[in-house]
Amino acid sequence: MKHSWKIGKIFGIDIHIDSSWFVIFILLTWALANSYFPRQYPDWGTLMYWMIGIFTSLSMFASVLIHELAHSLVAKAQGEEVRRITLFILGGVAQISEEPKKPWKELTMALVGPSASIVLAFGFFVMSFFMAGFSEPLKASFLYLAIINFILAVFNLLPGFPMDGGRVLRALIWQVTGNLKKATHIASRVGQGVAFLLLFFGVFQILRGDWSGFWLIFVGWFLHSAAVRGYQQVTVESTLKGVRAKELMREDFERISGDILVQELVDKFILHKRERVFLVGDGQLLQGIVCLEDVKAIPREKWTVMTVAEIMTPKDKLEAVSPDDDGSTILNSLTAKDIHQVPVVEEGKVTGIICRSDILRYIQLRSELDI
Ligand SMILES: [Zn+2]
Repeated sequence: MKHSWKIGKIFGIDIHIDSSWFVIFILLTWALANSYFPRQYPDWGTLMYWMIGIFTSLSMFASVLIHELAHSLVAKAQGEEVRRITLFILGGVAQISEEPKKPWKELTMALVGPSASIVLAFGFFVMSFFMAGFSEPLKASFLYLAIINFILAVFNLLPGFPMDGGRVLRALIWQVTGNLKKATHIASRVGQGVAFLLLFFGVFQILRGDWSGFWLIFVGWFLHSAAVRGYQQVTVESTLKGVRAKELMREDFERISGDILVQELVDKFILHKRERVFLVGDGQLLQGIVCLEDVKAIPREKWTVMTVAEIMTPKDKLEAVSPDDDGSTILNSLTAKDIHQVPVVEEGKVTGIICRSDILRYIQLRSELDI
C-alpha cells in the first residue's frame, strides 16, 4: 500500500500527505459535525454541521502546513535543503536534509513553528470576534481553530526530542556543553520521560472513568517512539559523518555463477566460506550481487528450486558508489531504495561491496567503543 501522496509544491518543497492523515481528517470532521458543534450550537441543521466540520478540518490541515512551512522556510534561509513536508496523523514533519550546524540556528528553526501556530491562534481568535455579528458558524469555527492552534503550539513545545520543544532543549544543552551527541541523548531521554508521564496520566484518567485519557496515551506513545527514533537517527548520522565508502566496504568477496541453486550458495559458499556477500557473474562480466539478506528474504523450501540469479540484486538495479562517497549518504540511499548492497567502483572496476548490515555493524561497534 502506498503510504503518502504528493499533493503539490510550495516554495520548491514537495507537500505529501500520509495515509494516516485521512483517518484523522475523517475522525475530526465526524467529531466536529456530530458532537462538538451540535452540543454547543443546537439549532444549525445537519448540513451546516457537516459543512462547517469539513471547513474546520481543512483549515486545521492548512494550519499544520503553515507550522511546517515556517520551520522549512527558516531552514532554507539557513542554507539547508528541505526535501518535503509530510502531513500525517498528529501533525507534520519537514524533512530537512542535514542536522543544524549551530545551536542558535536550531533554536530559531525550532521556535518558529510554535510561534507560527501562536500567531495563527491569535489571528483566528480576532477573526472569530469579527464574525460574531455576521455568521455564527464561522465564528464558532474560527474560535475552535484558535484553540486548536494554541494546543498545537503547546503540544509541540513539550520538551521531548524530536518535538520542537525537545529541539529547543537540545539547542540549549548543545550551547552549554558544546556536544551535539550528548545534547541529543539528554533531550531524547527527557522526551521519553515526558512520554511516560503522559501515558501514566492517560491510564489514571481512564481508571477514573474519563475516556479522554486515550488521547494522552496515544500522544505519549507517539512521543516515546519519536524520541527513540530521533535519537537513533542522530547517532547514525553523527557516527557515519566523515566515514568513506572505502572504510565500510569489504574487499574479500568471491565471484560465483548465477546458475547455481540457492541451496548450493548456502552450503558451499555462505556456510563453508563464512561469507555473507558474493559477486555474481562469469569472468569479468558482473551480473549482480547476492548477500545473506537476499537468501533470508525467500522461504526455505524455495532454496532447492530458485537460482542465485533469481534472488540477487541485478546489475541494472545496483547503484555503484565511489570509494570516497560518504557513509551516511550511502546508508540513506540503501534504505530509501530498499536494497541491501552497493558495489564500490573505481575506474570501472568493482573494488569492494558495501552491505547494509556491514554499515549497521560498524555503527554498533563504534557505539560500543563509545567513539
Ligand atoms: Zn514544529
